[in-house]
Amino acid sequence: MTRLQGLAASRGTALGRARVRLPHVQDVGEKRITAAAVEQELERLHRATDAARAEMRELRTRLQGALPAEVGEFLDLHAMLLDDPELLSALDELVRSKRYSASHALRVQRDRLAQVFEGMEDAYLKSRLDDLDHVIGRIHSFLHKRTTTVKGLAGEILVCENVAPSELAQLQSQGVVGIISSAGSVLSHSAILARSLHMPLVVGASAVLQKVSDGDVLIVDGASGEIVLDPGPADLRQYRARQRELAREQRELGRLRGKPTRTVDGVEITLLANAESAEDVLQAHALGARGLGLYRTEFLFLQRNQLPNEDEQFRIYRDTVLGMSGRPVTIRTLDLGADKADRTGLVMGSEENPALGLRGVRLSLAKPKVSDTQLRAILRASGYGPVRILIPMLTTREEIMAVRRRLSRLAALLRNEGHEVADNIQVGAMIEVPAAAFALDTFIDQVDFLSIGTNDLVQYLLAADRNNEAVSELYSPLHPAVLRLLAHVIDTAQRNETPVAVCGEIAGDARMTAMLLALGLTEFSLHPGTLLEVRRAIRALDLGTLRGQAAQLLAARDRRGIERWIAGTALD
Ligand code: PEP
Ligand code: MG
Repeated sequence: MTRLQGLAASRGTALGRARVRLPHVQDVGEKRITAAAVEQELERLHRATDAARAEMRELRTRLQGALPAEVGEFLDLHAMLLDDPELLSALDELVRSKRYSASHALRVQRDRLAQVFEGMEDAYLKSRLDDLDHVIGRIHSFLHKRTTTVKGLAGEILVCENVAPSELAQLQSQGVVGIISSAGSVLSHSAILARSLHMPLVVGASAVLQKVSDGDVLIVDGASGEIVLDPGPADLRQYRARQRELAREQRELGRLRGKPTRTVDGVEITLLANAESAEDVLQAHALGARGLGLYRTEFLFLQRNQLPNEDEQFRIYRDTVLGMSGRPVTIRTLDLGADKADRTGLVMGSEENPALGLRGVRLSLAKPKVSDTQLRAILRASGYGPVRILIPMLTTREEIMAVRRRLSRLAALLRNEGHEVADNIQVGAMIEVPAAAFALDTFIDQVDFLSIGTNDLVQYLLAADRNNEAVSELYSPLHPAVLRLLAHVIDTAQRNETPVAVCGEIAGDARMTAMLLALGLTEFSLHPGTLLEVRRAIRALDLGTLRGQAAQLLAARDRRGIERWIAGTALD
């Protein structure tokens, strides 16, 4: 039994067999086998090489004639590499004499050959390294292909370098019960989506690809970040106990359904829901969310090669509005970019620094046709119930004015075409760019409401990428600058009588609830999966006392000081 530690990204525990997905160039660590296992390992290796060779031949025959010459050439080169006696005998040798696992032997041989390729003068030959990696990658994937008849991924835990938001739903429908990635961060969009799908996820488990092999039995705990490889009887017992505990907690929380979200001193707090799927909408409704505070529309644009047209978007927005039966639905316009890169070609794939690039409202203004299609669909949905429009990544007053102008023009056009469009649809801004937060008073007259996107605000304020595990320590809302900026935005909004919510992940983290209330926040928009926990926290807190302690919180000089303040409120 071995224990590995990663970062807790999405709660829930899972027990299952590992399905390892190696990155293109495999970074497998040294793994030795016993003398008795050598023949079996060689057999696995040969079977995998044969399978890769057969695949290559089949591809060559299937594409015969339809191939441009250079593609044929590289297929030939791949076939040649797969038949190269030097490559094959060297692999056997590494398994036989060094007792390397087949995967590790592949890695070592790849590195040896890579050195030869890299030392070549000829740029063309040098570039053949990619072909070598491809061939080695194919052998690898056959090596890890299950020989049993298990179909799909049912009951398995995916172990990979990274998981894209666009593949999560599909993995779940294929039966994956948990995911562990060696890279990634807790506030990435994949993590957000995993929480929304209730898929246990541990990220940043740096050693996992080296330590875990296909078929290993694992326990993954998405709440603590712990991974147990080859669990023993005590671990299995603990796993079952944890499952029971989670079920009990769910039952207990279930009693808070339909209960008011009121502090001890009787102040009503508004809980809105973040949603990105029909299931989220159902759950938000069932748990008594007062509306949707953030409907992320970009998830409609992922996992497909073509942009959704106006009618398709309209139907989804309309059904969301109907699903909330009269409670307000805040639809955020497309926020593609950065780590949410799509397949439709809408997002620039080659930006050096996508987090600072053409994303959010910038992309919408740069692609007026795409944006108009979406705005028309949202405006049409407003005929079916209360809709608010939320603009992501706002930086300047000009941007919000440009969106407003478009909206007025489109609403008039739609009415002319005979559509029902609500009057005075509220338009709000996401506050996630520090410039917008500091200069809020310069455009607050142009917005009807505000929603603070702390996920991005923290990354831009602290210059720490939300997806980069190397700076995950630094990427934290518990920095005095973050708290002061939050206080400034909440205060400015309240002085201007503009409703303000927080819709970043901290809104759904019950450990942060006291802090947010102390800063003056009375509206939270959070994932429905966390709604009852936050409601429970609010019902145990006294707003007057917390507000009285705000100055002390804002005077904290470092993370430890802020954590001490939070711990103090938990003791009250
Ligand atoms: C945020 O940035 O806090 C936010 C809610 O938006 P997203 O996570 O979709 O970027
Ligand atoms: Mg954001």
